[in-house]
Amino acid sequence: MPYDNPITVHCSTCGSQDVRADAYAAWNPELQTWELVAIFDSRDCEDCGGECSTVEKEIAR
Ligand SMILES: [Zn+2]
Repeated sequence: MPYDNPITVHCSTCGSQDVRADAYAAWNPELQTWELVAIFDSRDCEDCGGECSTVEKEIAR
């Protein structure tokens, strides 16, 4: 495991892991890809279809 305390992020309403964070991406001409430069607090659940709050759960090992 590359991380000490890996977590999953769930929608607090339905428990789905299919959640999205609002973010800005900027073009990186050296890597030829869009890079995330900012991730905002706003979260959307794909299952609920709207803004939601999220809960983090530690992955049991
Ligand atoms: Zn949901």
